[in-house]
Amino acid sequence: MPELPEVEITARRLDDALRGAVVESALTPGINALRTFDPPLHAIEGRAIEGVRRRGKHVVLDVEGDLALLAHLMSAGRLQLFDKRASLRDRTSRLLVRIADGRELRLREFGTRQAAWVKLLHAAELEADEALATLGPDAWPDPPALGELLGEHGARPLHAVLRDQRVIAGIGRSWVDEILWTARLSPFKRGDDLDDEDASTLRAAMVSCLGGALEHYERVVTLPIPDKLPMPLLVHRRHGEPCPSCGTTLEAVHYEDYVMSYCPTDQTEGRILKDRRLSRLLK
Ligand SMILES: [Zn+2]
Repeated sequence: MPELPEVEITARRLDDALRGAVVESALTPGINALRTFDPPLHAIEGRAIEGVRRRGKHVVLDVEGDLALLAHLMSAGRLQLFDKRASLRDRTSRLLVRIADGRELRLREFGTRQAAWVKLLHAAELEADEALATLGPDAWPDPPALGELLGEHGARPLHAVLRDQRVIAGIGRSWVDEILWTARLSPFKRGDDLDDEDASTLRAAMVSCLGGALEHYERVVTLPIPDKLPMPLLVHRRHGEPCPSCGTTLEAVHYEDYVMSYCPTDQTEGRILKDRRLSRLLK
């Protein structure tokens, strides 16, 4: 669930709170989320955190001594900063960074999947790491012109190509629905089939949806960063409810582990797209 706006607000809050703070110790309890072994995790002990920032949907902690801790929260991870240390029995903890003043930065992961990961890298290796080296340009605040960018990636539906981090970085299953609804484009329109007006409308919708979410989070999100962020979604997972723009009942297509929501009137010329879950039930 954490996508560009959720990761950006996390990085901003942590940057404000942790810049200059000294790491006392770091550990990875339970399932080891650490994907690297050199330098070892204890290399950050005794060193100051120089800043926290976002790249795509990743968080980067820059640590004194030219070290960088790169984290991906995947679908159910959170980075949270607490005033006190966690019980080691907290089964959601994947990484604990204990600060010398008693605070604790925790990477926690909810649900059954264990997918969130962390890498400790030398700063010089960071941009070459495959997680960052393969990222497309950020979807916010200033994405490139989309006609050419999406055109290069062939006949893929917008709903898929906009979530491909190698094409454009930061958008996932929630915000793609909001962006396409705002742009009044069908999720199944092909990425290489946008005219100039479609492409500029889509780009504007991307900037306004992601930027609007971030403005919302600036008002409501405080440390330690809540388990569940109050995502200001108007369409995603709201199928069955009236479209906030035209009042038509929002529809959805269900996939194995996610759902795509849309407004038939605004996006698909009134057509209801085939819902695979429904058609499977009818077989
Ligand atoms: Zn509508």
